[in-house]
Amino acid sequence: MNTVLIWRTNSTSSVATEQLGEHIGHNVRGGEVFELVSDLGGGKTTFTRGLVRGTGSIDTVGSPTFTLSREYEATKFKIAHFDFYRLSEAGIVADELAEIIGDTAYVTVVEWGDIVHDVLPTSTVTVRISLDASDENARAITMEYTQKFSYLLEGLV
Ligand code: ADP
Ligand code: MG
Repeated sequence: MNTVLIWRTNSTSSVATEQLGEHIGHNVRGGEVFELVSDLGGGKTTFTRGLVRGTGSIDTVGSPTFTLSREYEATKFKIAHFDFYRLSEAGIVADELAEIIGDTAYVTVVEWGDIVHDVLPTSTVTVRISLDASDENARAITMEYTQKFSYLLEGLV
């Protein structure tokens, strides 16, 4: 069954968004592909920072806006972090992405993935973060995933 399950939460601070990422990072097993969707400043990179920490990596997460991709080391796998912001042509980076997708030695995180949708697998875990016009620290976060990724949410309420 490929029914899409949806899990929702609200975040009231960047720390809370990072902690959510950390929790999920703690549950990753390798091979997952996360697609992060929000407007600029929504918290995609903040979430990624937590996720990377949750995997046990001590590497510093930065925005790969100008480098397009970054790699962080955890003990069991690497985390590949892509950002295609304002890019109209993914070029060779799309090939790089295609190569690591499906590789359980990698966890993949993609920001602004619209232009690489044909490369992304059908079963990504999509994290949507919505800003709140009336509160600069508030975010509504939804995770869309299929049953086989339920383990990622273990321990979350
Ligand atoms: P994106 O990668 O989506 O462009 P960033 O993670 O780089 O966004 O930036 C998010 C910004 O919003 C940071 O400055 C962060 O401190 C701030 N922020 C405020 N409240 C939140 C929240 N609840 N969750 C995530 N970030 C928040
Ligand atoms: Mg970002």
